[in-house]
Amino acid sequence: MAQKYETKQMDQPKPNPFENALEQLRIAAEYLKLDEGIHQILANPKRQLTVSLPVRMDNGKTRVFTGYRVQYNDARGPFKGGIRYHPGVTLDEVKALSAWMTWKTSVANIPYGGAKGGIICDPKHMSPGELERMTRRFAAAIAPIIGPYKDIPAPDVYTNSQTMAWILDTYSTLEGFMAPAVITGKPISLGGSLGRDKATGRGAVFCTVEAAKVNKIDLKRATFAVQGFGNAGSNFAEILQTYGSKLMGASDSKGAITSKTPMDADKLIAYKEKTGSVVGFPGSQPITDKELLQLDVDILSPAALENSILPDTARGVKAKIITECANGPTTPEADKILHANKVFMIPDILANSGGVIVSYLEWVQNLERISWTEAEVNDMLEKKITGAFKDVHDASVKHGVDMRTGAMIVGVGRVAEAVKTLGTFP
Ligand code: GLU
Repeated sequence: MAQKYETKQMDQPKPNPFENALEQLRIAAEYLKLDEGIHQILANPKRQLTVSLPVRMDNGKTRVFTGYRVQYNDARGPFKGGIRYHPGVTLDEVKALSAWMTWKTSVANIPYGGAKGGIICDPKHMSPGELERMTRRFAAAIAPIIGPYKDIPAPDVYTNSQTMAWILDTYSTLEGFMAPAVITGKPISLGGSLGRDKATGRGAVFCTVEAAKVNKIDLKRATFAVQGFGNAGSNFAEILQTYGSKLMGASDSKGAITSKTPMDADKLIAYKEKTGSVVGFPGSQPITDKELLQLDVDILSPAALENSILPDTARGVKAKIITECANGPTTPEADKILHANKVFMIPDILANSGGVIVSYLEWVQNLERISWTEAEVNDMLEKKITGAFKDVHDASVKHGVDMRTGAMIVGVGRVAEAVKTLGTFP
């Protein structure tokens, strides 16, 4: 029976991310012996908003885009989470991402709940004017449910500090006062935090440093590959390289590359900025995405989208450590295979929590009207995320489980405790 189930999973190339999230929750609920009512509360988003966004395109015609904001749980504090622009956005994807944000803020032990937003669109084929009008219309549509003490959005895939500035301006115009704390990941000139732009990659490196200690891997000699050379992936590569580790493979939406000699992450970033892709980087050879994920390296970072490590790929993974810079890159079935093969997993809700940790530091600076130096921010990030790594590792050792289940035990456990203590209204 078990085997049949596994075969079925393998035949489904792209499982539903929300089903993956619920399966991870089910596993944690079992270890935590969660009350059925609490489990049910945690398996359902508190609020799901779907909006239609009419946008005047550059050709004079109106196009209607669909956007979502899912507020999953706020028992531990205001909703928090990014906004994604991608043609593949679905309500179930946003639901999954909002659940992962809930466990992520809890693992990081920052006073937030979890939320996520997204718009189905292809930002690479839209002009800056079209993007601005779509963003402002979305900000107006979600304005009634966001706010500095309600729900604080941030960047995610294909959104950036400029997108956040438009949302801030639209929200503040509607409210009648400038409210920088309504959003994080802002430009520095508008109250953004130093260190926020590189925070996800930097946090992932701090986690990798801890994982290397546990696994007795010398980072000075280690090799690594990154799937998805966007904000998180490229900063991860650039910072990990400063520890002496060597970049042997990278990819983006246009293709994957490897090289016989280590690649300079800074040069690769500059090359991608110039040409739009890592493909064709001097001295590199093209490979398939699967070959990249199965490269013979010590550390592998999936830093793109969900569902990139499926069972079939997982079987051939040679890395000793996986640092999940992306959200949801590994399916529950692939997790089992990696664990059986003794791959040390730093799960997304821990590995990429540096972004939301520095978002929290940005929000605190805005609310308190103070500002910290980049060194102070990086120091606080390091303390927070290495503390979270220790909590998760301790839980995984105590329960004899993999790091994902350890992270879920910590993250879900704290949210469950808050939900239980609040009681049920009315
Ligand atoms: N989008 C990022 C994430 O998935 C950052 C969220 C935030 O800073 O609120 O964690």
